[in-house]
Amino acid sequence: MSVQSDGFCQCLGIFSVRDVLVIGGGIIGRFIALECQARGMTVTLIDAGQSRPSASWAGGGILSPLFPWRYHASWRPLVSDSLDRYGQWREVLRSETGLFPEINACGMLVRESEVEQARRWARDERVKLLPARESGISGGFSEKAELWMPDIAAVRNSRWLSALEVLCEHRGIRRVLSSVSDVVESAGAVEVCAGEERFRAGQAVVAAGYWSKALLKGLPFTEELMPVKGEMLLYQLEPGEIPAILLADSGYLIPRKDGLVLAGSTLNAGVQDMRPGAAAHQVLRESAADWYPPLAKLQPVAHWAGVRPGNRRPQPIIGPIHQGSRICVATGHFRNGLVSAPATGQLVAEMVSGQPPFCESQPYSPSS
Ligand SMILES: Cc1cc2nc3c(=O)[nH]c(=O)nc-3n(C[C@H](O)[C@H](O)[C@H](O)COP(=O)(O)OP(=O)(O)OC[C@H]3O[C@@H](n4cnc5c(N)ncnc54)[C@H](O)[C@@H]3O)c2cc1C
Repeated sequence: MSVQSDGFCQCLGIFSVRDVLVIGGGIIGRFIALECQARGMTVTLIDAGQSRPSASWAGGGILSPLFPWRYHASWRPLVSDSLDRYGQWREVLRSETGLFPEINACGMLVRESEVEQARRWARDERVKLLPARESGISGGFSEKAELWMPDIAAVRNSRWLSALEVLCEHRGIRRVLSSVSDVVESAGAVEVCAGEERFRAGQAVVAAGYWSKALLKGLPFTEELMPVKGEMLLYQLEPGEIPAILLADSGYLIPRKDGLVLAGSTLNAGVQDMRPGAAAHQVLRESAADWYPPLAKLQPVAHWAGVRPGNRRPQPIIGPIHQGSRICVATGHFRNGLVSAPATGQLVAEMVSGQPPFCESQPYSPSS
């Protein structure tokens, strides 16, 4: 059946969805969907799947902005209690699904030349930041670092994505595997065209990572968005062989509890090609071996690329696309989407359900 729809688009089938459509099933979209559902909304999550692999799968999972003292203060409410938030969600996952995705609370050693700036930040934020030698970590790791952040953890993001998908299903959030081509506000509703289906809902949230730019083309804030390709290597070591997250400007290592170690990451602004390349392989191998020399002789077991939702603004873009709009956007989280996802989910759900936001939302407004 072909349906003519007020010049919006021609699709097959009309679906009416009460409440909210979430477009994009990366880490941001999944937490938004769950938080909206928890507020009594009926949620449909539309995701393009493997045709547009998410940055959330490709990422490392460090629960801190890298070098947090270098970031704009507006990130604070979205990142400061991320470890607690992930811990609480893990309890929910355990009780509702039996799944218990990994959080590795292993701490982070940091190589940093601006130690004074870091110390000032830690004092102001009341974050534990110690000289690296106080980590008690031997084996040549702490000698190569200046700072030790014992409370930094990393989530195993691929497992978290799968677990959140199970939770969404368990809670009755409908998942549609399709690519959205149009999002339009009309007659007190939002119409969304995905493949051959057309959806109508009270509100929609665009959380499609860097693809949000194309979906909301023409709106002024989208000029700030850009793809930033990042590549990663994976090594298999013994559990505990890399005892903490190791961070330097040249690259980082993130240990998983089973001995897998991620070595990341490259930054290529403006590049949206997902193919891993030989040049990045070389750069990542060198920076990994700089942290841990035995890696120079070891072949990585995997190499992949992802595309971050890069953003020229120093803070993410979260909120209605214009005042009073039924379309909300949540994107531009760049390197901090995993750490800030649970708080972003809460904030967006509060916005679309009309509850007071838990933090000042103005700094993230698309129009600010
Ligand atoms: C190498 C690398 C390392 C990283 N390390 C970290 C880290 O340690 N800590 C951290 O906090 N962050 C990290 N990040 C950043 C983090 O991964 C991103 O900020 C975050 O994943 C963005 O999530 P998202 O949900 O906005 O976008 P994505 O994860 O990209 O999800 C977007 C989703 O939208 C879907 N989609 C796209 N277009 C459409 C459409 N038209 N219709 C329907 N669906 C659509 C896609 O299929 C995808 O599933 C890293 C990123 C990379 C690449």
